Amino acid sequence: MWTYQHSSFAVHQLAALSDNYIYLIAPHNSQLLAAVDPAEAEPVIAVCTELGRPLTHIFNTHHHWDHTGANDALKSSYDCTIIGNANDAARIPGMDVQLQPGRPWSWAGLEIQIMDVPGHTLGHIAYLIEDALFCGDTLFGAGCGRLFEGTPAQMWQSLSSLASLPDAVQVYCAHEYTLANLRFATGVDSGNTALSRRLQTDADKREHGQPTIPSTIGIERSTNPFLRPADASFCTAYAEGAGIAADALSVFTDIRKRKDHW
Ligand SMILES: [Zn+2]
Repeated sequence: MWTYQHSSFAVHQLAALSDNYIYLIAPHNSQLLAAVDPAEAEPVIAVCTELGRPLTHIFNTHHHWDHTGANDALKSSYDCTIIGNANDAARIPGMDVQLQPGRPWSWAGLEIQIMDVPGHTLGHIAYLIEDALFCGDTLFGAGCGRLFEGTPAQMWQSLSSLASLPDAVQVYCAHEYTLANLRFATGVDSGNTALSRRLQTDADKREHGQPTIPSTIGIERSTNPFLRPADASFCTAYAEGAGIAADALSVFTDIRKRKDHW
């Protein structure tokens, strides 16, 4: 488990399944405790026991089994309240509180922004709490989720809204895919020195058994090939090389397709 301090809460990061992360949000001024996207119950229960706090809430970003798989088990252990997008109420097990994306919501005295980020799935949301972003399978370290349900235009808009957050926002995504994503990225954006520096730093972290996550919006904006189409010179150069239209959406769509077949 790794712990990160924010001004009003701590975030505990737990590894689950083969490459998932579950996050526990522990507010400083409250006994509430939330798990974000619990793939498995056991690691969550172990940390609750260690912290001496019962789990009171589950925040789901989307309905996939590796994000909601432990909803029922944790609810039966702790009688916790399960929160998700109202649009996905039928697909998220045990949901109690239906959120409306775009409408502010508060929990444990914290103002939480519920961002509508369709693309990977149509009901995908992200939780922004102060400078901590819980973005599930929308934005990854140097990557983005596959388009299972949404269109490239929807995903591009979702990623653009995340990219517009301040540089210092910490990106708590749901998978450790960063190194493979960075290797793909170097083939797409070879002249990017921030990218080659990141590959070294993150490879070193993995060699030492450390997570590459959280990253930050600033790091993602400069190195993530799925956010780079917003940079006009990258966009033009990529489009020229690929023989496609030099607009951000066309370039994003082409890079996403290449990654699907990589
Ligand atoms: Zn997913």
